[in-house]
Amino acid sequence: MRYTGLIERYQSKLPVTDATRPISLGEGNTPLIQLQNIATMLGKKHKIYIKYEGLNPTGSFKDRGMTMAVTKAVESGSKAIICASTGNTSASAAAYAARAGIKAFVVIPEGKIALGKLAQAMIHGAVIIQIKGNFDDGMRLVKEVAEHAPVSIVNSINPFRLQGQKTAAFEIIEELGNAPDYHYLPVGNAGNISAHWMGYKEYHSDGKSNHTPKMVGYQAAGSAPFVIGSMVDNPETIATAIRIGHPQSWDLAQKVIKESNGWFDARTDAQILTTQKLLTEKEGIFCEPASSVSLSGAIADIKTGKIPQKSTIVCTLTGHGLKDPDTAISQCTDAIININPTIDEVRDAILNNM
Ligand SMILES: *Cc1c(COP(=O)(O)O)cnc(C)c1O
Repeated sequence: MRYTGLIERYQSKLPVTDATRPISLGEGNTPLIQLQNIATMLGKKHKIYIKYEGLNPTGSFKDRGMTMAVTKAVESGSKAIICASTGNTSASAAAYAARAGIKAFVVIPEGKIALGKLAQAMIHGAVIIQIKGNFDDGMRLVKEVAEHAPVSIVNSINPFRLQGQKTAAFEIIEELGNAPDYHYLPVGNAGNISAHWMGYKEYHSDGKSNHTPKMVGYQAAGSAPFVIGSMVDNPETIATAIRIGHPQSWDLAQKVIKESNGWFDARTDAQILTTQKLLTEKEGIFCEPASSVSLSGAIADIKTGKIPQKSTIVCTLTGHGLKDPDTAISQCTDAIININPTIDEVRDAILNNM
């Protein structure tokens, strides 16, 4: 059977009917890749899997939520959607609005959007509203303006977003034949960790797994309200996708950690970039900086002995590395050898670098 997106795949588990017309780009069904070389480096005491959400149609997990949010917006007669975004939500909203034939308005923080994400929002024809402020300012404005203009909000405060995103947990259980012992996620607004927990609980009560995982949320140290325990007014991190000081799903996520016996913690920007590079160089997997905080956290917790041996761990990589080419290139300044176009110089370049 041809795969036609997660709404058709999981129709019975989602708030849709046979009459619903799915707005889909074939999102979901992403690879679950077992780490090999990094697992060896860590002593092979655990099974570590990467859920590579960067392979969704617009390059991030946001597509899982956006297919539901836009489908339901269109179903209710909406002609326009709006979101505040650190980048990936705007890219996804722009693409799904194009597919649906409706208008997308995206509110982004000036100068803090990774280049690939901005390119996506622009090329799909979204109306881009750049503010002299951060994501949290944008979110506040979007909530207010939606009361005064005919637009549907497609941020993760839209409950259909989390419904779509919970399907990642279904896919993991189907592939592993059970839930993992630990699931690590990057946390910004905390919608995705909440959505995963919903998915794990639903499949557990359907009898598709015999336990639920401990949920572990990792943040960037300069933008870590859940770790600090209170809101952060001026969040700063190179991981722009999680540069959020006032998370929208605060209560939901606190409940997830409590119910699942998990925890929140943080990694520094330097640690985040080191893990991003480790993944690209040792496993051939390229994710954006924010995504690597999940694996960075898992590696740290394995090293401190917090994770029992033989545990099964899933780390979500939320977005593709091509989203943020500037950060990638700036980490590899000596990667290019400049020579004259002669056979001698090419040969030397090879022999000197074997
Ligand atoms: C949106 C996003 C996050 C944060 O997800 P939340 O649901 O806001 O916690 C993390 N990484 C990437 C790449 C994202 O686009």
